[in-house]
Amino acid sequence: MSTIATSGLAFEQVGLVFDNGTHALAGIDITVGAGEFVSLVGPSGCGKSTLLRLAAGFEQPTQGAVRLGGGTLGYVFQDPTLLAWRSVLRNVELPAELAGVDKRTRRAAARAAIELVGLGGFENHKPAQLSGGMRMRASIARALTGAPELFLFDEPFGALDEITRQRLNEEVSALHRRSGFTGVFVTHSIAEAVFLSTRVVVLTGRPGRVAADIAVPLDFPRTPQLRYSPEFGRIAATVSAALHEAEQPREIGHAA
Ligand code: ADP
Repeated sequence: MSTIATSGLAFEQVGLVFDNGTHALAGIDITVGAGEFVSLVGPSGCGKSTLLRLAAGFEQPTQGAVRLGGGTLGYVFQDPTLLAWRSVLRNVELPAELAGVDKRTRRAAARAAIELVGLGGFENHKPAQLSGGMRMRASIARALTGAPELFLFDEPFGALDEITRQRLNEEVSALHRRSGFTGVFVTHSIAEAVFLSTRVVVLTGRPGRVAADIAVPLDFPRTPQLRYSPEFGRIAATVSAALHEAEQPREIGHAA
């Protein structure tokens, strides 16, 4: 399961205007080094998910370039997108099954990933028999079976209660340390962004531009108590101030 991250990512002066004229992103310069964990925060509609889709190659920029270091990609969406009629095990093994991996190999990989996300014992449960947090764990396990070197998270825990979310943050952070993947994580939660990340990038309202790029010089492993440390509070306050500033309407004449 463990991988060595070879996979950095760079957005170079990236702009994107959709076919319908929506100007989603402008002049984005973000470099994510191999093994870094960078969160993207910003007002709704500022282009955070679009940046992930660009990183995955699902969209192409209309300006600038997206550069990838290579390596396998993992993607976790806001919705766990599990197939209702398949068990946890059969959902988690699905990508490998579609890729034609033999049953024995893919089952072993799926079982290992299920253990890693703490779902051992629930292999034969159907999604409807799981809590929201457990469904999201299954979704993460499914992505982990591909041993991602670049792992993209599109606000995966937004629908979960605070305690479940904190626990999953701790687990994602532990997986990051263990597997060494490069992480890019979209969230609306400042605490989640600071807890997980080596850097937090704050985007402005549409078209999204980089408003601030804030380092999180907190040690790993990130423990639950960290959330109550003065340093955590200071960094969260810095991100919060940048976010408030980024949400201010821009002056007329400051053209997109
Ligand atoms: P965020 O994730 O920050 O909430 P998105 O990246 O989803 O924002 O969207 C950025 C903007 O681009 C939004 O205004 C959204 O409506 C628009 N948008 C997203 N995808 C498309 C598309 N395929 N065509 C046109 N507009 C789009």
